[in-house]
Amino acid sequence: MTAAVRPEGDLVQVPLSALEHHAYCPRQCGLILLEDAFTDDAATLRGTLLHQRVDTLGNRGRGTVRTLHALPVWHDGYGLAGRCDTVELHSDGTILPVEHKSGRYRPGGPADIQVAAQAMCLESMFKRPVPRAAVYSAADRRRHTVTVDDALRALVLEHTRAVRAMLTDSRLPPPPADSRCRRCSMATDCMPKVLAGARRFRRALDALYVVDDQSHQ
Ligand code: SF4
Repeated sequence: MTAAVRPEGDLVQVPLSALEHHAYCPRQCGLILLEDAFTDDAATLRGTLLHQRVDTLGNRGRGTVRTLHALPVWHDGYGLAGRCDTVELHSDGTILPVEHKSGRYRPGGPADIQVAAQAMCLESMFKRPVPRAAVYSAADRRRHTVTVDDALRALVLEHTRAVRAMLTDSRLPPPPADSRCRRCSMATDCMPKVLAGARRFRRALDALYVVDDQSHQ
């Protein structure tokens, strides 16, 4: 993962996959990018198996649609780089990136941010608008259309800036220690409850020893 992060001009390159991790939990993204920690669980293994089907670079034709697999994409202006699982090139000029996920689709969730970033990269590379993308959910067994509108583009750039700042500072974000942790494969490396407990303890300790300047006058 870290190998994908390389300085290019003035911009530290942000991997597209990091945007999804950051949108889910900034600390998860930090553990993967800064500490090379990635732990598989059943969900991530399902995802890996699913991606093996689409991670081989290639190109297939089906009727009026040409399908490219594992296509490297980038956006020099935004400092983004990564790979699209699948890109469909339709005969009417439509370009459609399709991100494959093993879990259930959540509208407006982290997968939307990742696939919207892919669309923005493709726009820059093909010099053509890419107003829609799609997320294929193996759990739902269906494809969900994502509208790449201004609000979603702004979110992509917001996460890009945040990931870049994290890479520049090399500072691991604190754990939110909330319901996300139950479904996170990184919980063992992260120890969210222990650290959140330590934070609460530190705050309580600081509150105990607040010095009141007035009392000394
Ligand atoms: S265990 Fe929780 S805090 Fe830690 S990386 Fe996962 S979601 Fe984030």
